[in-house]
Order: sequence, then structure tokens, then C-alpha cells
Amino acid sequence: MEICRTVAAVRGHVARRRASGRTTAFVPTMGALHDGHGACVAVARDVPDGAVVVSIFVNPTQFAPGEDLSRYPRPLESDLEACRRWGVDAVFVPSPEEMYAEAQQAWVEVEGVTGPLCGRSRPGHFRGVATVVTKLFNIVQPDVAVFGQKDAQQALVIHRMVQQLALPVELRLAPIAREADGLALSSRNAYLSAAERERATALYAGLRAGRDAARDGERDPARVLEAVRGVFAARGVNDVEYAEILSLDDLSPLDHLTGRVILAVAARIGATRLIDNVVLRVSAGGCEELPTMW
Ligand code: AMP
Repeated sequence: MEICRTVAAVRGHVARRRASGRTTAFVPTMGALHDGHGACVAVARDVPDGAVVVSIFVNPTQFAPGEDLSRYPRPLESDLEACRRWGVDAVFVPSPEEMYAEAQQAWVEVEGVTGPLCGRSRPGHFRGVATVVTKLFNIVQPDVAVFGQKDAQQALVIHRMVQQLALPVELRLAPIAREADGLALSSRNAYLSAAERERATALYAGLRAGRDAARDGERDPARVLEAVRGVFAARGVNDVEYAEILSLDDLSPLDHLTGRVILAVAARIGATRLIDNVVLRVSAGGCEELPTMW
């Protein structure tokens, strides 16, 4: 596995692989790798003749002031070990100076789908994400890029960006990898105390309750959300930033559940902000949970 610390090094690696007929499947990450990232790598490895490139970069421009940029975990050695185990071909680990040699003045802004959900509480977050992903795409020039369903709104933002800016990359999604008790894997789970870790299981339990209400025929979004919030209240999750059901086409609100919808939540467990979601396809015939949005 090649470890590339500069733009020139990773470009050279990709160019050599391309010259020998390999396509490039790219998985951008912020490191502190877990099996959720592994699920993305597994999707990348399914690309025929694909050479898998993983980037590890804690991108400062997507953290709002006061967020956890400085304490975000950076266990590089164990991350590289995980990449070796997963059969990754190259890891791109740039320094902040390599990615942002001077103050950034060129930004990529996506409107619309950046507005609701996390967009309300994380000013500038999606601008930072869209900008760094564009830059990483220009550096790595992947044929395929893989993102996780876990960060559903991020995937929708990048999808819109790729579509509307005609970026020559195919996007694929990995389903959410979960612990045995349902908690979605996240690098931020490391912040949780034992008691908080226990309480955090309420997120997926709440989503399941909402899903089950929809499966039982409930089509009023407010009633489905009552089921979600009922579980949160019963399990001591009181600091709920949002619990919403939106249309998957444009993240617009719904009066009545129909078509492909996302049930998404964000809550603080102690000081740690966690997100999770489920995707549902609702029709006259019933309601089915889908592993990914596409
Ligand atoms: P991050 O390092 O948190 O920026 O995540 C890098 C990529 O891994 C993103 O596309 C995430 O959506 C994806 N990812 C993170 N956690 C999970 C998970 N539990 N299951 C699937 N994908 C995930």
C-alpha cells in the first residue's frame, strides 16, 4: 500500500495505475477509521479493475467555530493498518498546509439540499464539504467515489454538485454499518462515556419505532415523528436537534408519507452530537426500508 502525503505523489500513483488499465475508486474520509469506512471501501473494491484510494484528512473548513476540530481523533497508525487489512491500494494523507497552502478564497456552494437538517445548525459545513470534495476529486480524479448512507445529507449535496457541475465521477453509496445494538458506527462514538454509549442506542431505536409506525400504515409524518420522539423521551435523549421526515428528491417536508422518504435525526448525547437515518419507500401497498438512497 502506497502512502501519499502530497498532491503530486497521489496524482503520480493514480496516473501509473491508470496507465496499467486500472480504474480509480475513491473513498474520502476524516480518519479514525471503523467498519463504516470499511463498508465504503468494500463498495469501492467491487468496482471492476478498481484501484482503491482512501483519503484521510480532517478538513478544517467543514467545522464551524466551536465544533470539535482540535479534538477530532487522529489515530494515523491504526488507520493505515485498517487500510492495509481492507486491501486499499493507496492512502492520501495530506497535511492541512498541503490542502490549504493559503487562505481559501474559492468555494463550492450548493443551495437547496444544504438548507434543512444539519444545514440549520452547522453554518458553512456543507460549503466546506463541497469544496474539499471537489478539490479531492480534482486531485485524485476518480472514476467512482463512495460515500456512506450514514451522512445522507452530505451524499445528497455531493450528488447535486456532481450532477449540476458535470463532474466526471460516478457516485456509489455504502449502507450504514451498525454496532450489534443498532448504534451507527461513527468516529465520534469514541467521545461517549459508558452511560452515554448506552443512551445513544435510543437513536436507532427511535428510528425503528418511526419506521414501524409507517409500516403499520401510519401516513401522517407528525404521528410517525411522535413515535420517534416517544422513544427518545423514554430513554433520556432530551437534547434533540431535529427529527424529521423529508422527501428524498429535494429534502422538502411532506404532508403525507408517499414515495421515497428519509427519516433523519440528530441529537446530543452529553456533549456529543450524533446523527442517524433510515430510508423508506412508501406506497399504497406498504412501506419498505431501503439500505441506501440509490
Ligand atoms: P467521515 O470520516 O466521518 O467523514 O466519513 C467518511 C465516509 O464514511 C463518509 O462517506 C461517511 O458517510 C462514511 N461513513 C461513516 N460512518 C459510516 C457508517 N456507520 N456506515 C457507513 N458509512 C459510514
